[in-house]
Amino acid sequence: MTLGEALSVAARRWGSELALVSRHQNICWSWQELNREAERVACGLLDHGVRRGDRVGIWAPNCAEWTVIQFATAKIGAILVNINPAYRVSEIEYALAKVGCSVLVTASAFKSSNYIAMLREIGTRSLPDLRLVISLGEQAHDGFIPWEQLRVSADPLLLGAASESLRPDDAINIQFTSGTTGFPKGATLTHRNILNNGYFSGQTINLTVKDRICIPVPLYHCFGMVLGNLASVTSGAAMIYPGEAYDARMTLEAVRDERCTALYGVPTMLITILNHPDLDQFDVSSLRTGIMAGAPCPAAMMEQIMDRLNMREVTIGYGMTETSPLTTQTSIDDPVAERVATVGRVHPHAEAKIVGLNGETLQVNQQGEYCSRGYAVMQGYWNDPEKTDDAIDAEGWMHSGDLAVMDERGYVRITGRIKDMIIRGGENIYPRELEEFLLGHPLIVDVQVFGVSDAKFGEEVCAWVIARAGHRLSADDVIAHCRGKIAHYKVPRYVRIVEGFAMTVTGKAQKFEMRKTMEAELG
Ligand code: ATP
Ligand code: MG
Repeated sequence: MTLGEALSVAARRWGSELALVSRHQNICWSWQELNREAERVACGLLDHGVRRGDRVGIWAPNCAEWTVIQFATAKIGAILVNINPAYRVSEIEYALAKVGCSVLVTASAFKSSNYIAMLREIGTRSLPDLRLVISLGEQAHDGFIPWEQLRVSADPLLLGAASESLRPDDAINIQFTSGTTGFPKGATLTHRNILNNGYFSGQTINLTVKDRICIPVPLYHCFGMVLGNLASVTSGAAMIYPGEAYDARMTLEAVRDERCTALYGVPTMLITILNHPDLDQFDVSSLRTGIMAGAPCPAAMMEQIMDRLNMREVTIGYGMTETSPLTTQTSIDDPVAERVATVGRVHPHAEAKIVGLNGETLQVNQQGEYCSRGYAVMQGYWNDPEKTDDAIDAEGWMHSGDLAVMDERGYVRITGRIKDMIIRGGENIYPRELEEFLLGHPLIVDVQVFGVSDAKFGEEVCAWVIARAGHRLSADDVIAHCRGKIAHYKVPRYVRIVEGFAMTVTGKAQKFEMRKTMEAELG
């Protein structure tokens, strides 16, 4: 099945049931309404000469039109290119040029940006493939086509002809990775890749038409558009968008007002929710389940999610953009110990193995690189066979760059990123382990541990700590807390109490940026 067919099926199956709520836009659509919007815009795109295989970029924060364009492009086989809403002119230019976008869809609703000036500027750059700029909102600007102009009346014959030859293994989406470790890479994904991954992730938490998923994560990333939107379209659960971008209060209000049953998020989001001063005033009793993914999920946070947010059936997912994204997930039936401390077992129809330094498959309980294989592995990085070959080996295994251990029952623990491992005087130090330890301190709300280069030891351990609001915590307190409880070489040499971390839009801490800042400071 293709993504476009999946939405048509949803419209037939669940018709007038709730499909999508975009709270900041006051939009509330049934499956039939969402499908009708997607069909209209699909025909509008055809009218403007967009064809199968054309790349259509979307540069917009979360909104209903994002999802409409996702399905509209899928219905005619155009390839959607997710562009980070935080990007500015030169980054957008880079992304558009890299994949040869012929259409760019943008949002005029960007709050703080001088969006029109930016679009004009993009118009002056050398982008020979770019033919069409569509601006969300009602007004036309400077020759950009307004969204309203795309909403033509749907023509079933035209749509039938455009969708007839589409195949599940066609590329349908180019998704950029988060940029946690450096410059984002564009992964080419097919209908089969992402539709199935959405389906299995939703099945694992028993989603049905009765569920409502609160989606505060960005749609531009696979967490929102696959685990959110495509789990919905394959299960009938409604998609609830609390706002344009993540905000703890707006998320809690959406859960309360829409009676959400599931909540998705990366750990940094959940940490701000759990530490929100007004959390106890929100009725979150409708919550049942959810997916936490994208970065290490501390065990203490998972326990609090179960208790304080009533999400007894919460799961942890692990994966990467390149694998559509999930390859493992905990299950509602797993014992609690495994549900808070592991990323679960491999997903249906996927394979996993842990390999050593020389590519040899390791035994259970040994640490090595996590690799996965199966339907979810991307086609490759767009137009980059070299990088693709580095990531996917000849037997089809995707090498994750993550360190992991699998036990005899198949439960996987992610122990860190290979790139983040600190080698201090020949000792390997895993930031993840130290972060879990430091989070045990009652005044530490969040922490990031990373290495900085050091003349004597090669690298030294550095910790950036966010302290609980209204409490005093010094670097010396943090170091004193470590002494005698962890091996001396793991005790951070440098500790900084900070207000926040350098973050990707997907809510992940960018250690490489923090390292740069620290190294500049240390000289
Ligand atoms: P880039 O590849 O651009 O540096 P990124 O790897 O963060 O960025 P994504 O594809 O969004 O881009 O994220 C995948 C990565 O996120 C995984 O490789 C892994 O390091 C991390 N990750 C995802 N889920 C989990 C999890 N449950 N526990 C620990 N780490 C996770
Ligand atoms: Mg990555």
